[in-house]
Amino acid sequence: MLTVKIIPVLNDNYIYLLHDQHSNQTAVVDPALAEPVLDILNEQAWSLDYIFNTHHHGDHIGGNRELKKQTSCKIVAAAADSYRIPAIDIAVNHGDVLHLGEHKIDIIAMPGHTSHHIGYHFADKPWLFCGDTLFSMGCGRLFDGTAEQLWHSLQWIKSLPANTLIYCSHEYTLANGKFALSLEPNNQATQQRIAKVTALRQQSQPSLPTNLADELATNPFLREHSSELQANIALQDAQAMAIFIKLRQLKDHFIS
Ligand code: ZN
Ligand code: FE
Repeated sequence: MLTVKIIPVLNDNYIYLLHDQHSNQTAVVDPALAEPVLDILNEQAWSLDYIFNTHHHGDHIGGNRELKKQTSCKIVAAAADSYRIPAIDIAVNHGDVLHLGEHKIDIIAMPGHTSHHIGYHFADKPWLFCGDTLFSMGCGRLFDGTAEQLWHSLQWIKSLPANTLIYCSHEYTLANGKFALSLEPNNQATQQRIAKVTALRQQSQPSLPTNLADELATNPFLREHSSELQANIALQDAQAMAIFIKLRQLKDHFIS
């Protein structure tokens, strides 16, 4: 059995700690910090086998060095990020396959937020660890990737089974929900999701993982086809990518 512990750190980051009971293997996704991860490892008497990095930003790799020093874990990251993620042990490319215990993990290139961003896909669950590519009701900002790249990455996510659980790296759901509602004020799924997440956040519970079905129903960056959304940004019947680019620009300047 594979379990996921959600560790909230910094302002709004999540570190995900994966443990396979059968093999006793453990991996951590995007450790912004080492200490909260080491605390749980100690408490559970788990050793750390892998760090899975999605991209090079400090709030995703900040704990790498200390975790490797304390646990001798192996750092997995995109080969193309070798120049900006120190001490990679397993440099991966799109299409590579890893295993945690007997669980197969596909490495998926998902550029856009950064040029070499990758995701970790557990097709047998199904789970996706997508870093800062998709957020619940939102998507990552553009740093050194392009809007076109991000759009293609999101198209791949859209093609997954609707029951895929999506583990994003930030708790941005409510802020994203305000933007989503400004575009589709009549979207009942969005209204309901905001109500549900508001209740969760009041109890300091994470709104993640999300699932693809909910995102398809509420996330404006997956909803270029929505006529209400198109009318609200005055881009009726434009191409999906053009609508996406406009949405990404509007979100950058959206004041909630
Ligand atoms: Zn980032
Ligand atoms: Fe981030």
